[in-house]
Amino acid sequence: MNYSDFYQRSVDDPNGFWADEARRIHWQEPFSRVLDYSKPPFTRWFVGGKTNLCYNAVDRWTGSQGDKPALIAISTETGSEKTYTFAELHAEVNRAAAMMQSLAVGKGDRVLIYMPMIAEAVFAMLACARIGAIHSVVFGGFASNSLASRIEDATPKLVVSADAGSRGGKVVAYKPLLDEAIRMAQHKPDHVLLVDRGLAAMERVPGRDVDYAELREKHADAQVPVTWLESNESSYILYTSGTTGKPKGVQRDVGGYAVALAASMDYIFGGKAGETYFCTSDIGWVVGHSYIVYGPLIAGMATVLYEGLPIRPDAGIWWSIVEKYKVSRMFSAPTAVRVLKKQPPEFMKKHDLSSLKTLYLAGEPLDESTSEWISSALDVPVIDNYWQTETGWPILSIARGVDDRPARLGSPGVPMYGYKVKILNEGTGKTCGANEKGVVVIEGPLPPGCMQTVYGDDRRFLDTYWSNFADQQAYSTFDWGIRDADGYYFILGRTDDVINVAGHRLGTREIEESISSHPNVSEVAVVGIEDKLKGQVAVAFAVLKNAQAATTAEERRTLEGEIMAVVDRRLGALGRPARIYFVTLLPKTRSGKLLRRAIQAICEGRDPGDLPTIEDPSALHQIEGALKS
Ligand code: ATP
Ligand code: MG
Repeated sequence: MNYSDFYQRSVDDPNGFWADEARRIHWQEPFSRVLDYSKPPFTRWFVGGKTNLCYNAVDRWTGSQGDKPALIAISTETGSEKTYTFAELHAEVNRAAAMMQSLAVGKGDRVLIYMPMIAEAVFAMLACARIGAIHSVVFGGFASNSLASRIEDATPKLVVSADAGSRGGKVVAYKPLLDEAIRMAQHKPDHVLLVDRGLAAMERVPGRDVDYAELREKHADAQVPVTWLESNESSYILYTSGTTGKPKGVQRDVGGYAVALAASMDYIFGGKAGETYFCTSDIGWVVGHSYIVYGPLIAGMATVLYEGLPIRPDAGIWWSIVEKYKVSRMFSAPTAVRVLKKQPPEFMKKHDLSSLKTLYLAGEPLDESTSEWISSALDVPVIDNYWQTETGWPILSIARGVDDRPARLGSPGVPMYGYKVKILNEGTGKTCGANEKGVVVIEGPLPPGCMQTVYGDDRRFLDTYWSNFADQQAYSTFDWGIRDADGYYFILGRTDDVINVAGHRLGTREIEESISSHPNVSEVAVVGIEDKLKGQVAVAFAVLKNAQAATTAEERRTLEGEIMAVVDRRLGALGRPARIYFVTLLPKTRSGKLLRRAIQAICEGRDPGDLPTIEDPSALHQIEGALKS
């Protein structure tokens, strides 16, 4: 089958296309309509059909592969490693479901999961799905403020948490952060279910706090029947990463999500039942929801849950996991690959990676040098994929399960089936021609799996995403992009990462690309800062491959001049930054996204504010230091 025809059918005949795809999952009761789009842009997929995410991810496989691995939980932080078969996973999920029911949690109740990357987090998610409770997983790296605002918004009846997480061998106590968050929030959960890993002492609140292990004992033999849900009931709420402001509570359905994931595991990720999938993301992000937990399990694959760093105990850890568990597909992020790139390549060569077929990367722009480096180091194809928390699965990628059209360096690929992707001119709203830059939008109806609405706030859903182009039913991604003459898309950065230099609008991403092309630059962040004369000017912070080349002030000036000359050649003098500073670290979120706004604030002498998602706060001090140099 040729991908162009396949894609065309998906958008010309969504009813026929998705009715076929829906056969991939179990329906307890069949749906009566594939798509109800009577209240655009709200979509209702598989109307009337009854199904359950937990059933499709777990129960469905206990017969044919009950004794095959389902969840492989590895922690290099605590030195533990445990494989759960589908039968064992089924038993644990039933226990967790019974525990939740004993705490009066039922269908439609929210359960907030604030957990490190341990098996119980997955049990809790699947248990919620089983009984129709709506989970909201909050990334374990968040502190009290972020947690409090999510407790406030999701109003959970129950919070599932643990004594602590661990990162790079350092214990991070969760319980005090959680207690503080609950204190800050107006809403109070009835109960807090706590996994005690024995990492940090916990003070328990009598009547509210419950011990996971103790309660589990009481429900050791529990069998909890699946609660069948209408396809459009809610499965979960997940807040966006908050790179550009207040996070939005993305609300997702049941049936559409299950079908979308099942199809993507075949067409995009090429996973087969019985194989092992290793996604290095965190369950706190959408990639973790879709491709650590639900996607691989729905496809009958074993999934690896990894707590730890990619370079500890050494940079070979991921590759030893690939070897040991014969991982066939791996999913990671460019930021992680850049970490590995700084390590000697010998760590990969030590391991037998012959099981690995493909590496998928997503979450941020994949630069050509990172892509080429990892692809040749692993000797497997690297497939970029572009999507958002809002969409739940890739918008742009290469569907190697359909045909073997080649990927193109620097491009995440072509629109995935079901997505009517367009590039619109920001001012006129007209569709851009080939290689003409505009805003990446998706014409409604959004395919199955995408967000239903902003939790509790339909208005915000409409105003935020659907109101940027008058008279057009277009979902805005808030990303700049272009489409080349062959239909490949390129993402040029976020629409709010635009700077205005003397009336000219420049994407910071474009300037970063050109700076990155200098052979000594490994990473760079560009921000626009206020300038009396020009409105704004670009300022760059670069991390060097060889920092030795810029130790003296004179060397730094020479290098700065060299890099500026590169930008002049590639972008023109308008794009040339006013200054290029050298640092060894850039401020990023824990999910690897550059915190350009924080850098900009520091440059303009403002307070960068509360940055709960920052990976390493010392990166901000480096920015301050560099400005003074
Ligand atoms: P918020 O919406 O709260 O500001 P966020 O946009 O960072 O947070 P996510 O949904 O996690 O939250 O990230 C999606 C965004 O990440 C995309 O809109 C895009 O900017 C970027 N992105 C994801 N994958 C890619 C990719 N393969 N190439 C380029 N950019 C990507
Ligand atoms: Mg976003």
